This record gives sequence, structure tokens and C-alpha cells, in this order.
Amino acid sequence: MAYAYDDQNIFACILRKEIPNKTVLETPHSLAFEDIRPQAPNHVLVIPKGRYVCYDHFALEATEVEIVDFTRTIGAVCKMLGLQPGHDGQGYRLISNAGTHGVQEVPHLHVHILAGRSLGRMLQPAG
Ligand code: 5GP
Repeated sequence: MAYAYDDQNIFACILRKEIPNKTVLETPHSLAFEDIRPQAPNHVLVIPKGRYVCYDHFALEATEVEIVDFTRTIGAVCKMLGLQPGHDGQGYRLISNAGTHGVQEVPHLHVHILAGRSLGRMLQPAG
């Protein structure tokens, strides 16, 4: 079944400027903004402007221009925040949750950029 994009999701509202956001970087095809409930000293969300539900949807159906723009935006934010391990930064973690098992809250593709403290191991051991 094809993905059904919900135009009322909160990030669609942000893209339409119906609700405010703290923009970090905007490009022709992407928007980076601060997460409203930060889980680390740096917590930025990067979203494509196109109507994509999650990462596989985007990776399989977005145009090459959109994919390059999105990927470069993530890199640019890491650079802006001084996170690059190759340039004296302390690193970061990228997370993109998808669907039920990924516990995705907002059904518009987003990558979390988390940084500013040690983030511990990637997942809790299964209990
Ligand atoms: P998910 O669980 O879908 O990967 O993450 C959704 C993220 O969106 C959460 O970290 C949550 O704090 C963030 N979020 C939800 N609503 C808003 C909002 O209105 N503005 C901003 N900036 N972030 C939001």
C-alpha cells in the first residue's frame, strides 16, 4: 500500500508557517529547526519540504535534487553547530524514527540531530 501523507501533521503546519518554529537553516527543499522538547543540548530536526512520511518513502520516491538538498542540509547543520568530529567537534547522533516499531510521533520525515553531551549507547538492551 502506498504511503498516505497527512497534510494536517504538525510539521506540515510548520512548513505552511501556521505555527512558529526556531529555524536553524532553510534551503529550497529542506528546513532545519530546533526540537520543541530537546533531549540533548543540541537537538535539531531536519525535514524535507516535500510530502514524505518517513525515510524509506523519501529515499525511494524523492527526486535526486531533494535528496541532495536534504543530505547537504544535515551536513550544513552539523557544521554550523561545530559538531564535526573531523574538525574538532565532539560528534553527534542522527535518528530517524519510522512507523510503529520506530515509535514515530510525527508522520513527516525528519532526522533528529542530537549532540552536546555523550549520548550513551544507541539502544537500551531488550528487557
Ligand atoms: P519522532 O518521535 O516522530 O521521531 O519525533 C518527533 C519530534 O518532534 C519530537 O522530538 C518532538 O519533540 C518534536 N515536535 C513535536 N511537535 C513539535 C512542534 O510543534 N515543534 C517542534 N519544533 N518540534 C515538535
